[in-house]
Amino acid sequence: MAKAPNKRREAGSGHKHKKQFGQNFLNNSRIIDRIVAAIRPQAQDHMVEIGPGEAALTEPLIKTVSHLDIIEIDNDLIGPLKIRFACEPAFHLHHTDALTFDYSTLLKTPDEQLRVVGNLPYNISSPLMFHLLEHAENIRDMHFMLQKEVVDRICAQPGSKTFGRLSVMMQYYCKTEHLFDVGPENFTPPPKVDSAIVRLLPYKEKPLLAEDEALFEKFVKQCFALKRKTLRNNLKGWLESEQIEACGINPSARAETLQLADFVTLCNYYRKTLN
Ligand code: SAM
Repeated sequence: MAKAPNKRREAGSGHKHKKQFGQNFLNNSRIIDRIVAAIRPQAQDHMVEIGPGEAALTEPLIKTVSHLDIIEIDNDLIGPLKIRFACEPAFHLHHTDALTFDYSTLLKTPDEQLRVVGNLPYNISSPLMFHLLEHAENIRDMHFMLQKEVVDRICAQPGSKTFGRLSVMMQYYCKTEHLFDVGPENFTPPPKVDSAIVRLLPYKEKPLLAEDEALFEKFVKQCFALKRKTLRNNLKGWLESEQIEACGINPSARAETLQLADFVTLCNYYRKTLN
């Protein structure tokens, strides 16, 4: 049976897409429906959308949720968004930079749980996710469209080619799930890379605990400092081979073969050597 053609959203707002803001707008209603179905918005949700653009996701979300905070940096998109959603009580627009925005200002109660969504500008996706994770205790879940390569790295398992610093850090803070891929033809203009949707569920109680999380970040970076080098090499000046062995880990191993628990054990050991 012939495949039904994709339903295209209306184009022609006249907006000039800005590369510096990663403006690749979703143009396929089937993909938009699929993303919204994966998010499963509920009436009682307090949702935050990063980068609404021309409202491809905003529109279906605002029909369901009771509170939608929208964060957009591009001045040219602010006016049209305000006009379009002026009559929606759930709509709260913030004309600001999502990278520096203080998300705690959105909380109505100290233990409120936000749901964060966005087709993210790919050039800022990693720093943005780390910025959001500073508020992890107030985030129920996050659904993001990212470069497929980044989703692969976030969800990678030890021993795989894509396992690295991003995998360790994101899996330390969240349960990660690669939902589905989205091809470039579903965006206007089409990006040069494939995209994918990831679900991130921040742990309320982390299964593994680094005693100093700021140090853990630096330590993991050091473990991966030089690709294809052994831990012994990358941790020179941090831990001796005997100390790595004392943690039950082979100093000749490479960081990409270690389990998340190994990084935590090594870092907690290193922390003790500092005292
Ligand atoms: N959600 C729309 C869609 O799916 O069609 C647009 C997604 S587009 C990939 C990224 C959006 O993020 C754009 O609207 C862009 O202007 C906005 N954006 C880029 N950098 C931003 C930043 N630092 N803070 C807030 N919004 C940003």
